[in-house]
Amino acid sequence: MAKFYLTTAIDYSNGDPHLGHALEKVGADVIARYRRLRSDQVHFLMGMDEHSQSVIQAAEEAGITPQAWVDRMAERFRLFWSRLECRHDDWIRTTEPRHVRAVAELLGRIRERNPDDLYLADYEGLYCTGCEEFKQEAQIRDGRCIEHPTLELLPTRERNHFFRLSRYRDHLRGLIEGGGLRIEPRSRRNEIVRLLEAGLQDVSISRSRFPWGIPFPDSPGHTVYVWFDALINYLSATGFPEPGYETLWPADLHVIGKGISRFHCTLWPAMLVSAGLAPPVAVWVHGYVQWEGTKMSKTAGTAVTLEDAITRHGPDALRYFLMREIGFENDGNFTWERFDERYTAELADGFGNLASRSLAMLERYRNGVVPEDAGAGPLDEIGRSAVGRYTAAMDRLDLKGGIEAAWSLVTAANQHIVQTEPWSLAKAGRARELDAILAALARCLYRLAVLAAPVMPTKAETLWHGLGFEGGGPTAADWNELPSPPLAGRTTSRPPVLFPKPTAPGGPA
Ligand SMILES: [Zn+2]
Repeated sequence: MAKFYLTTAIDYSNGDPHLGHALEKVGADVIARYRRLRSDQVHFLMGMDEHSQSVIQAAEEAGITPQAWVDRMAERFRLFWSRLECRHDDWIRTTEPRHVRAVAELLGRIRERNPDDLYLADYEGLYCTGCEEFKQEAQIRDGRCIEHPTLELLPTRERNHFFRLSRYRDHLRGLIEGGGLRIEPRSRRNEIVRLLEAGLQDVSISRSRFPWGIPFPDSPGHTVYVWFDALINYLSATGFPEPGYETLWPADLHVIGKGISRFHCTLWPAMLVSAGLAPPVAVWVHGYVQWEGTKMSKTAGTAVTLEDAITRHGPDALRYFLMREIGFENDGNFTWERFDERYTAELADGFGNLASRSLAMLERYRNGVVPEDAGAGPLDEIGRSAVGRYTAAMDRLDLKGGIEAAWSLVTAANQHIVQTEPWSLAKAGRARELDAILAALARCLYRLAVLAAPVMPTKAETLWHGLGFEGGGPTAADWNELPSPPLAGRTTSRPPVLFPKPTAPGGPA
């Protein structure tokens, strides 16, 4: 079994999670569930970034301490991720002692191995409180941060500790070109390569007028810059510096949004290399969920809340829609119209209808028992081909492509029912032909339950029980049976309707 240590970005605790957060967490959870199906030893980390400046302001407005505020937000985020079935193995918060200790240790190692990498200097520049960083000219449009056009940039001057990032340009180029740090997809890798060609600037890594943060070692009155602090969460969650942390480190995959790829693909690996530690194996950079053409944010989150999106058709349908419509590579638009269309066509009339009529015919014509059959019909051929395309797509983290491959089987199976008319065969007493079709449909549902499990874990489990299996849904052992699902003689039953039709047009299910 291969170790697979997977992380998502940790989120600022300044407001409720929105669809933009959900895209990333669901995508990473789909990858984690897929890797578990493929027998990997998955360790999936999520968590909270709790030392941002906005926390102080939010806590003040709520009339509570910053710690009480982040405690409250951490619970809210956890609740949403649990409802969205994001099954993480660990949950880290940057206010935890294990993290504070790891930050001090990493800084200590940098100072010990490469003392010249840290120095004190004055810094003057325009600061974005949304990004928590000084912005360079190329990141400013119309006097505002490109990522946060509604926030004022703050002219700021400070005497700070700096990290000599500029020194690592060639080292990072070598890592990326030599495959020691994989950045995907290709377009994002090219962005980082171009950035390195232009050169890197040193990063101010302490704050002197900002008490909410991790104390900077041997520097009274200074706290660690929130980004330098936050990136280390991936390492502190492994137990670093305690012995045994190497069983998890280096991370196999950091899943992040395109707005923070520079931190993860330049500053973070440089920090690790400076401290004598291995850089992450790979970084996957996803696009944004857009609402009416603009990035989903705290502001846009009031137009469409995560709560509304979850209750519209249930958590599994939202997971499906985010992965199928938005995908995990480029930006994509979220609209209620598209969500309702896909729900009706692909889930209720597609997958749900296939499952319910196949199991209903098995019940009506064969008392629910799957007939013996050689498994060599056309539907099995299509099924094996869909499994192959699904696997290839999921292995390269093309989650949308994986879903498309699985749903091509849904469409083919529904067509097969229309073409072969099992009800006519039953009426005509053509038992052997009917047996072959019913058995092929059962194997098709088995394959679909396994392939759908990473995206729609609850629905896959319901179908799994309908096929006569017990437990919490398909496992790695069941994945291995995909070429010839072991169903002959098994007693099936009709599960509850998987995807109920909405009661009113466009209304909630
Ligand atoms: Zn910004």
